Amino acid sequence: MKFLRANAPSLPLLHVQQIAREHFGLCGGAKALYSERDQNTLFREADGRAWMLKIANTDEDPGAIDCQIEVLRHIQRVDPLLPVPRIRLSTGGQGTARVSASDGSAHIVYALSFLDGQIAGDLELAPALLRRIGALQARLGRAMRGFFHAAAGARSLLWDVRMAPQYLPFVDLLPAPQRSLVMEVLRRGIDAVLPRLDALRAQAIHGDLHAHNLILSEAGDLAGIIDFGDMIHGPLILDLSAALADFMVPASRIPQVLADMIRGYYEVTPLEAEERALLFDLVELRLVITMLVNAYRHTQTPDEPNYAADAGIGGWEALETLQRLTRAGVETIVDFACGIPVPHASVPVHSDADMMARRKRLLGSRPYLFYDRPIHAVRGEGVWIIDSSGRRFLDCYNNVPIVGHCHPHVTEAISRQSRTLNTNTRYLGEQVLDYAERLGQKTGAALTACAFVNSGSEANDVAWRIATAWTGARGALTQEFAYHGITEAIDAVSPSASRIGALAAHVRTLLAPDCYRGIYRGDTPDPGSRYAEDADRAIQSLAEAGLKPAAYFVDSAFMTNGILEPQKNYVAEVFRRVRAAGGLCIADEVQSGFGRMGRHFYGYQHHDVVPDIITIGKPAGNGHPVGVVITRPEILDHFIEQSAFFSTFGGNNVSCAAGLAVLDVLENEDLLANATAIGAYFKAGLQALAAKHDIIGIVRGTGLALGVELVIDRNSRAPAAKQTSQLINRLRDEGVLAGSEGIHGNIVKLRPPLVFRREHVDQAVLAFERSLSAL
Ligand code: PMP
Repeated sequence: MKFLRANAPSLPLLHVQQIAREHFGLCGGAKALYSERDQNTLFREADGRAWMLKIANTDEDPGAIDCQIEVLRHIQRVDPLLPVPRIRLSTGGQGTARVSASDGSAHIVYALSFLDGQIAGDLELAPALLRRIGALQARLGRAMRGFFHAAAGARSLLWDVRMAPQYLPFVDLLPAPQRSLVMEVLRRGIDAVLPRLDALRAQAIHGDLHAHNLILSEAGDLAGIIDFGDMIHGPLILDLSAALADFMVPASRIPQVLADMIRGYYEVTPLEAEERALLFDLVELRLVITMLVNAYRHTQTPDEPNYAADAGIGGWEALETLQRLTRAGVETIVDFACGIPVPHASVPVHSDADMMARRKRLLGSRPYLFYDRPIHAVRGEGVWIIDSSGRRFLDCYNNVPIVGHCHPHVTEAISRQSRTLNTNTRYLGEQVLDYAERLGQKTGAALTACAFVNSGSEANDVAWRIATAWTGARGALTQEFAYHGITEAIDAVSPSASRIGALAAHVRTLLAPDCYRGIYRGDTPDPGSRYAEDADRAIQSLAEAGLKPAAYFVDSAFMTNGILEPQKNYVAEVFRRVRAAGGLCIADEVQSGFGRMGRHFYGYQHHDVVPDIITIGKPAGNGHPVGVVITRPEILDHFIEQSAFFSTFGGNNVSCAAGLAVLDVLENEDLLANATAIGAYFKAGLQALAAKHDIIGIVRGTGLALGVELVIDRNSRAPAAKQTSQLINRLRDEGVLAGSEGIHGNIVKLRPPLVFRREHVDQAVLAFERSLSAL
């Protein structure tokens, strides 16, 4: 085996400058750069552009140099923006020139553009950067796949894992405690790994991406990959496995390096199953071979610098850490990074503390998260959310995945449509029409004209604009402590979102029809009608300010008011008053729609009313962004005559495919009936708990929108807010996800996916029982 000696040429600078000028037309300031085996000199020209003149080692194979030059020219043709050095042709139009040193030795010389920036070297690379490095490596692989050069196939390189058999005699150079593991890795590599490589896709690869060949901009962003001196023809996966091994410094970052670099790589070039299967062994093999090269070199040239060993590349520490993580653990990380479900295993990638710190830095200092111990959710499946340790939580909280997390009918529809076409409603297309038709049918054809947007907030915002356009009025009516969204207009009708408590001048709130805690309780006859009288006061108050109501917003599930049950006559009586005053009635179905309340598709149908406008969001796409305003054709027409309404993403093909698929599942799996039956079963289970636990003031709700109101004392009904928060955290620790709600924060909110079954209810009720007992 021939080890390259680090005998780099050392021509005097003046001679180098003369060569540069004569052969490459390079003038400007010159500066010597360190290189292990060539003589490198940096020239910065007057225009600021920098070039590197390379005087090659006499040992260097001319074919290998030609291969490097040609591959860079090839990359320039196929992926011109890929950040790798560019070749500067000689004054004779060639890639190289030949020169003689004063000692008579002949050298090949060539010039490359110099990538400005800093060598990544020992800098700690953030996860997002690691991902981009993986992606850049994959992109480089794609750019090189059509390249052929005989020299790339003919080389045998020191660092190539395929040389493993030749390293067996060097194992004894290592410290005694390292030998048996290193020998085991080499033997397994030779017997079980190398024979499988021949069947993998192969091409020209860079083969030597490590932190010292990676350039970052001053701002720390990716600026390029350099050094094609070790490029070779071989299995594509060797490019990634070598880079992974070389980036494993310090060893404590191995899980992160694996997860992020592989993910980035995979997003550009998906790994094949056999490549994934061999990755662990190939990384170990590369580490071992680097250790042996370093050890051998040290015996040969004990006084010369050894940058790989000095940088910790190929360290024993990395090998030991991989052993500790175990093959199964590493394979789990690999699968996870490649988007392959990892059902029961743990994925030890980013610590919660790390992520919290990043969140505060990146998403604002108020880390609004559920639970004292936040959940790092990595996967969803039906009624389950799975965290990064593989723990499954029963999801009783999230109303968005209404047909269950990641329902295959929906995910398939999304991926199929996204492979086919995704564009906007300025083109003819069936999906948006089919979807609009089906949403209208669910109203019994009462409302049939749709405007498509992307969220509940947007739907409400557009509904508000439609209402003001139709009525010419400016006043707004909303429930006390309501929530309808985030836009300026909608924030004004969302008192629950306000941290300052001031109401806009054009807004009046209506009392919530709360028969447990409100002014009219269960003993008042016809409390719904009594509460509705409050609309007279609100409308009168608007009139006193010279305003008329343009619209009344109502959430039929009264979710933020504590999941109030429909009070007979209430909504109908308010609607009658609002309409008499000239306003429109907007049913915000973002929470209450899609069968959430059982029996009916829309929540307003529980109140025996027909609104003028319906808005939908959250569950419509089961997690894919979909928002729709549904109204009467004449109301929509009036609006779009006044305003050129268009939302780029609203009604796009993929969103409509998602929306249609959700409707399919609701129908095919008869989920409205399920929500009715399971909701009643859940409610009964919770009511049975109320019989044993005085802290439960009332259990209420409809279908699978349920609330459990906690009180300090059943007579005074003083809200037990602190205990509600404790209960929710205990439930989380029991593996059941719930939330809190209400103006006092003392109501446990339960809104599981409609695919909930009796066994899920049993689990949830049991967890409630245990958590209540522990309060
Ligand atoms: N309306 C209601 C009743 C809601 O609950 C929400 C969201 N919580 C919205 C509107 C706003 O929806 P989005 O967050 O999608 O804008």
